[in-house]
Parts: sequence; C-alpha cells; structure tokens
Amino acid sequence: MVDIPRIFNITESAHRIHNPITPDKLATLGAALRLAPGTRVLDLGSGSGEMLCAWARDYGIIGTGIDMSQLFTEQARLRAVELGVTDQVTFIHGDATGYISEEKVGVAACVGATWIGGGVAGTIELLARSLRTGGIILIGEPYWRQLPPTEAVAKGCLANAISDFQMLPGLLASFGQLGYDVVEMVLADQDGWDRYEAAKWLTMRRWLEANPDDELAKEVRAQLTSEPVRYATYTREYLGWGVFALMARH
Ligand code: SAH
Repeated sequence: MVDIPRIFNITESAHRIHNPITPDKLATLGAALRLAPGTRVLDLGSGSGEMLCAWARDYGIIGTGIDMSQLFTEQARLRAVELGVTDQVTFIHGDATGYISEEKVGVAACVGATWIGGGVAGTIELLARSLRTGGIILIGEPYWRQLPPTEAVAKGCLANAISDFQMLPGLLASFGQLGYDVVEMVLADQDGWDRYEAAKWLTMRRWLEANPDDELAKEVRAQLTSEPVRYATYTREYLGWGVFALMARH
C-alpha cells in the first residue's frame, strides 16, 4: 500500500490542517469564492480533509479528496463523520499523480502539494483536466516574503534553492503567463505558520515519550531539538504562503 514517508505521519498526526492556513482563513477563502451549494470540489493532496469537510458543512459543497497518507485519509473520513457531511464528501487513499475526475468540477484544488503535478504549472494543467468551463483552480503555494540573501538562507527554509519560489508579485505574474486570471487570494501570516510548525513540536515531544525505542526516535529527537530555532530564524521570517484562485483567460 502506498504512503508518504512515515516521519510526516508522526510529526503531523495531530494536525487538522497541514499548511500555514488557519480554520478562519479557510472559511474566508470559501466565502471569497462565493461557492454555490452543490458545487463539486476536487482536492488533490487533501490531507486530513478539513477544507472539504468545513466547506461541505458551511457552504454545501460536494467534495472528493485524494491523499497518499493512509493516516490523514482516515482522519479526513472521521472528520466528515464529526461534521455530519459523510453524504457530501468522499476521501480516496492513493497517489493523486495524474488523477482526473470522471465528472467535471466547479473547483479543482491542490493546496500545498504541487509536486503532485511536477510543480505549479504542471499541477494547474492537471487540475484543468477535471474542471468545467468557467471553473476555478485553487493553488496553495509558498512564496518569498523576503528574498533570502544567500542560498544558505533558502536551505534554512528547507527549500533546495532561492529559485524554488518567487516573490509574491512574481508568483502572481507567473499565473498570468500560464493564461490564468488571479481572481482571489487568501494569504497565510506568521501566526498561521506558527499553528502549522509549532504544533509539530508538542506532537513530537509526546510521540518521543510514547515511542522511545522506535527506529525514528533519534530523528524526531533531533528535529524537536533544532526546529524551533531553525523555524524562527528562517521559515517564519522569509517564507510566505497563500492560496490563489485562478480562472482561465481564453
Ligand atoms: N491540502 C492539505 C494537505 C497539505 S500537506 C491541507 O492543506 O491540509 C500535503 C499533502 O499531500 C499530505 O497530506 C500528503 O499526504 C499528500 N501527498 C503527498 N504526495 C501525494 C501524492 N502523490 N498524491 C496524493 N497526496 C499526496
């Protein structure tokens, strides 16, 4: 059975949202998109399903999510039960690479998992194949809030290179170059980054106490020791993140 590297299933096991976006900003995004009840939403890399479940409850959408983490997919199904939306949302455990929905959707999303399509451009192309005419594509992606002065600083942000990401105006321009209008955006802030990153630390600490002899214990211990300072020095200062709503220009 396919799955993501186990370290993420450990460090993010208690996360409901696996990105720097917060529940209130997810609600803001849903409202900003003016979702009509019954709108079909496809979500590639749906994680623990919070976006689809919350939008099903709040805006009456019909959602399908695909995620490669077995744990997150199980959590998404439990969240659907908790929010009373099991008749509106479906969560599929699997690799979303190349996934195209049978029925066209009004919103096709990939929020913080654009490697699924080999980058932003490839993911937009993939999502477009599931989208009805006039539909909206959602891309969740990092950008540089401040340009790293050196490649070492980019690596400190866990990027491979400065060229991995653009500044916000460059990212917005790149959507235009791909033939899309940017019709909305909701940006994360540093508090949202804290909810995503700092929430891992207590999870790691408790996991270590419960699993001292696990083969990943050394790695988790090393991360717990170094992450707060690394995060505050680099990611929190340099990296922005947002969800961008796009409509084809044609
Ligand atoms: N969109 C969710 C999750 C973002 S984290 C949220 O905002 O909460 C990235 C997600 O992509 C993880 O849940 C991970 O399990 C999933 N993932 C990684 N590679 C994948 C792939 N090839 N196919 C489907 N999901 C994948």
